[in-house]
Amino acid sequence: MALSNSQYAKIMRDYEEKQNAARLLHDERLNEIIKKIPEYKILDDEAIEASMAYARSALLASKEENCVDTTDELREKIGLIARQKALLLEKYGYPGDYLKPVYTCPDCRDTGYIGSEKCHCFKQAIVDLLYSQSNIKEVLKKENFRNFSMDLFSRNDIDPVSNLSSYDLMAESYKKAKEFVRKFPHSHENLFFSGKAGLGKTFLSHCIADELLKRGFTVLYLSAPELFDILRKETLSKKDGDDQSTESGRYVISCDLLIIDDLGSETTTEFTVSELNTCINERLLGGHSTIISSNLDPSQIRDYYGERNFSRIAGLYTFCRFYGTDLRLLKKYNAL
Ligand SMILES: [Zn+2]
Repeated sequence: MALSNSQYAKIMRDYEEKQNAARLLHDERLNEIIKKIPEYKILDDEAIEASMAYARSALLASKEENCVDTTDELREKIGLIARQKALLLEKYGYPGDYLKPVYTCPDCRDTGYIGSEKCHCFKQAIVDLLYSQSNIKEVLKKENFRNFSMDLFSRNDIDPVSNLSSYDLMAESYKKAKEFVRKFPHSHENLFFSGKAGLGKTFLSHCIADELLKRGFTVLYLSAPELFDILRKETLSKKDGDDQSTESGRYVISCDLLIIDDLGSETTTEFTVSELNTCINERLLGGHSTIISSNLDPSQIRDYYGERNFSRIAGLYTFCRFYGTDLRLLKKYNAL
């Protein structure tokens, strides 16, 4: 892993802070419960005693063959006390798991590792750090499926190409986005969002990113100029042996979902055409999904990015068309 030592230390420091926060919350809750329910303390002490006895017994059983093995009995006792504790909490109106540690990532208990393997949350932490993705988390608090509304889309605004209303087109795209999330990652599907600025393309890709991040997948969100900038640096660094930029390029290819926003907003050159082709192909070969959003329509993709890119996108991406009035303007008018 070519993270620098200070980057690695930063990630591990964040985990430590998360563990401390979980510990602090647990201690606060335990104090609160012991004050309100004195019987809880008795059960808690019994549980500690039984756990220590269990550890002693297991150690003894492993060393001496002829000793009386009480581990099964003790394990049962520990389980029984745990159930009694949960029932007691519920009796007093608390959830049974009120005193279970609250981890940001229950899979690795905020350690970053499952066994000797890096947890999915560690991989996302690397992506966040390498690509300065931290601001996206703030955006996703607002732009997600829970806040999605069809009210902004008109049934009377008819798209002359598809003959469908702005509302119907969005309803269709919304359905495809939901399907994409539901089948992820097994369907290896890719999406192409096409339409003018301000019609909800970015919002819908944020909705998808939010769902998949919550499910523990690595999601990398880049505008097209950012993507090509990373790939340009990677090409240069390969020549110079700079590990950091090569590492950045690697996640563009290997993250679970790559979202390329606003394709066509960058200056198109021979380099961008060929890099887009490599990026699309390598992600397809790796079975990793990609979402591209663009102001361009498919025929313009052919003009800007050539036949090879066009045929990949036309053949292997699910197409979603966006049409209507700029929602950002609409929101402003409605707020007046
Ligand atoms: Zn984790």
